[in-house]
Amino acid sequence: MHLSHVGTNKICFLLSLAFCALLVLLIPSLQPPQRQTDLPQPRPRAKPARHDLYGNPGQGSHGAKDGSFIHPLPPGGRPQDPQRMLEGDAAHANPPGSRSKDSLDLRDIFIAVKTTRKYHRSRLQLLSQTWVSKAKEQTFIFTDGEDKELKQKAGLNIINTNCSAAHTRQALCCKMSVEYDKFIESQKKWFCHVDDDNYVILPNLLELLSSYSHTQDVYLGRPSLDHPIEAAERVKSDGSVSVKFWFATGGAGFCISRGLALKMSPWASLGNFITTAEKIRLPDDCTVGYIIEALLEVPLTHTGLFHSHLENLQRLPTDNILKQVTLSYGGFENRRNVVSVGGVFSLAEDPSRFKTVHCLLYPDTEWCPRKTRH
Ligand code: UDP
Ligand code: MN
Repeated sequence: MHLSHVGTNKICFLLSLAFCALLVLLIPSLQPPQRQTDLPQPRPRAKPARHDLYGNPGQGSHGAKDGSFIHPLPPGGRPQDPQRMLEGDAAHANPPGSRSKDSLDLRDIFIAVKTTRKYHRSRLQLLSQTWVSKAKEQTFIFTDGEDKELKQKAGLNIINTNCSAAHTRQALCCKMSVEYDKFIESQKKWFCHVDDDNYVILPNLLELLSSYSHTQDVYLGRPSLDHPIEAAERVKSDGSVSVKFWFATGGAGFCISRGLALKMSPWASLGNFITTAEKIRLPDDCTVGYIIEALLEVPLTHTGLFHSHLENLQRLPTDNILKQVTLSYGGFENRRNVVSVGGVFSLAEDPSRFKTVHCLLYPDTEWCPRKTRH
């Protein structure tokens, strides 16, 4: 009786031991699988009804998981066909119901203008006379040399980056790196970069950004190519594999939401941008695209509302010019490349057409001819 009692206890003890061992073995397989990598994963879009600016819904130009990239081409059109892009834009610049509820103020936008000492007089003066005068508080001019005359101009935010004044990849990436850091410091909701030969139509920029949330991952701009760029992957691997990604051309301007800009920090902040650019050996705007599309897997939202002088600006229909977000001027196939807008100043008086655009937008400006004023 006593012996059999001891035997039962032993069996019970052994059984509970076996049960515990089984539990210990089972626990790891009940855990959720570990992430393969520490890289940020793409977030699903919070607004499923989002249109890109060609009028294509939602998915945009997602870099597919298999490494292939799908570009939201308009039916029968190429991204560099301004006529096609405009048709899409005119219809979809403000997709119905896409406005977010919290209203955006111009003061929420950080506008970085990239310039260089030699263009202070020829290019910056025109900007400070025109659109920059309407957005003095939030426009920051990133240059590379001291200029007392420019400093004395009331209200301009001038940042001497101390970067080299050369037109080299290193010098331009140095400026972009400072632009990024200053934006992060500013606490503003949107980062927009433009060149010193861009006109920004501020109300349209505000309207465009208002249809997105700055807390989402948003990278808005215009590609200069009709295909993604390919580069050797030297950040995540040793350069033996290549990576394809879209980038927004800096000469047309681009915007990045604060939410996304913060995620770029490991590769962009405090000089890391220069290291990243050096690794992939590409210019500043390509490096931005690389960080966002290739490393963070956030697709560029292609827009036809931003313009550089790499496209034929004469092809922008006159009626649509004031509906755009950025304009530019420059040489195009050895000819003057400017938007076709008339009625205020002659080509001789206003070769870039920026003064004419400005007077059509703000006719009460004191230097605008009386006939454009109300
Ligand atoms: N730029 C610069 N350093 C230079 C030359 C140009 O920062 O040595 C800037 C210039 O102010 C402009 C941008 O780079 O904002 C593009 O320059 P540009 O329009 O002359 O050339 P693009 O590349 O458009 O032909
Ligand atoms: Mn240019």
